[in-house]
Amino acid sequence: MIKYADIIGESMVDGTGIRVTAFLQGCPRACEGCHNPGLQNYEGGQVIQEKDFTNLLLTKITPVHAGITFSGGEPLIQQEGLFNVLSAVKTNSPGLDIWVYTGYTFEEVKHSPLMKCIDVLVDGPFILEQKDLSLPFRGSANQRIIDVPESLKKGEALEIEILCV
Ligand code: SF4
Repeated sequence: MIKYADIIGESMVDGTGIRVTAFLQGCPRACEGCHNPGLQNYEGGQVIQEKDFTNLLLTKITPVHAGITFSGGEPLIQQEGLFNVLSAVKTNSPGLDIWVYTGYTFEEVKHSPLMKCIDVLVDGPFILEQKDLSLPFRGSANQRIIDVPESLKKGEALEIEILCV
């Protein structure tokens, strides 16, 4: 099962290119200045079977889409369900790149099986004191845009430098 709040069919602010963005419901943190406070509550959102969620996402993909982004909330509190969804997406459409936003650091989650299905991880909680609206695809300077396959190979977080969007 997956618990989600919303799906945006065409986003250009949640990763490179045009993307489908899924906002998963629930987050254990309460970052001051959270961009989506309504998604912290575990009671909100709607529950859907993983297979149905996968199909829902894939029906929104067109030839112009670069990939799918999972944001929230905290997607990694639903690791088991998300693993099933991402595995099915990768099997069905291996060319789509998968971005996941998380409040965990890469070092905290790098051993999760889920990592093998993720292309880019934007990691770390939002920290109000480090807020920087000039940064592409993230809200605070502590957050990193990480190339997950290369980082797993190397055994350390390798950041992707994105100068402008
Ligand atoms: S991790 Fe993200 S969703 Fe959760 S409280 Fe922090 S900013 Fe909000």
